[in-house]
Amino acid sequence: MDRDIVERVVSEILEAPASVAWDDIAGLKHAKAAVQELAVWPLMKPELFRGARAVPRGLLLFGPPGTGKTLIGRAVASQCGATFFSISASSLTSKWIGEGEKMVRALFAVARCCEPAVIFVDEIDSLLSARKSDGEHESSRRMKTEFLVQMDGLGGGDDGRLLLVGATNRPQELDDGARRRLAKQLYIPLPCADARRAIVVNILDADASVTHRLSDADLNVICEKTDGYSGSDMKHLVQEAARAPLRELFQSVAAGGGGAGGVTGGVTPSAMRPIRLVDFKRASKQVRPSVTRADIDFHEEWNRAHGAMS
Ligand code: ADP
Repeated sequence: MDRDIVERVVSEILEAPASVAWDDIAGLKHAKAAVQELAVWPLMKPELFRGARAVPRGLLLFGPPGTGKTLIGRAVASQCGATFFSISASSLTSKWIGEGEKMVRALFAVARCCEPAVIFVDEIDSLLSARKSDGEHESSRRMKTEFLVQMDGLGGGDDGRLLLVGATNRPQELDDGARRRLAKQLYIPLPCADARRAIVVNILDADASVTHRLSDADLNVICEKTDGYSGSDMKHLVQEAARAPLRELFQSVAAGGGGAGGVTGGVTPSAMRPIRLVDFKRASKQVRPSVTRADIDFHEEWNRAHGAMS
């Protein structure tokens, strides 16, 4: 195999191990249980998932952007001590022009050497799309064919410990061949109120230098006002709110002419006031929900028709 291409796979697609626990993913109780059974256990004990107990080695996570699909991929790898390869299909088609087919072959070959391994392909629809765009190059057609061939090989060795996880927010674009191979399609929806609360609390609690004065009632208000926010929107909201005390402190230190430590000398975590509900109210004017109602309706409809948990 071409040495350069193997090195590129390792440097650009292989991710450093990250520790992601199931509790780091808020909500999604049913999806997490399904992923556990379809992905985690078979990767850990492939010899038990044979014959009548066989499960597909490819999984599709679909849903609006920013709902935790990538996080789930990382959690699977982390829970199984698996090597995690992550690539967005659009970068595959743009960055690896002309080399896509070779690269796909190298990716699967390297992953096999690193088993147990998870290959996570974001925006998988752009690689395995049913649409034939007029400008579709011969090279991207070959890359798609190679990818489907490699996917067929996943179930080959019964004890294979290689899993493909595809993610998309356009499941309707996948062609039939891809859909057949990604037999289980799991809907990853927007977080419910309890999950939004957990995201806020987890982010604030994860940083010991952050203090807040949010009562239970305040957290309820935040959850009510954030209906329609994705997990990623929630993260941005918390970050925006958490910067408010810092912004005030910088401004007051600057207005006072700095001090002994220079302009930023007085800006320390201990000098910052706690985060309050008002910071979230202001932040919600800056950070708006990124997913439209129409998008949510579409995914729910798709889930009813094709989802594994509908
Ligand atoms: P997707 O792959 O669905 O587009 P990601 O998994 O990349 O979304 O999520 C982006 C970020 O949003 C995550 O790194 C995490 O900080 C936050 N996030 C999204 N969903 C959740 C969730 N269910 N629980 C906790 N954090 C979440």
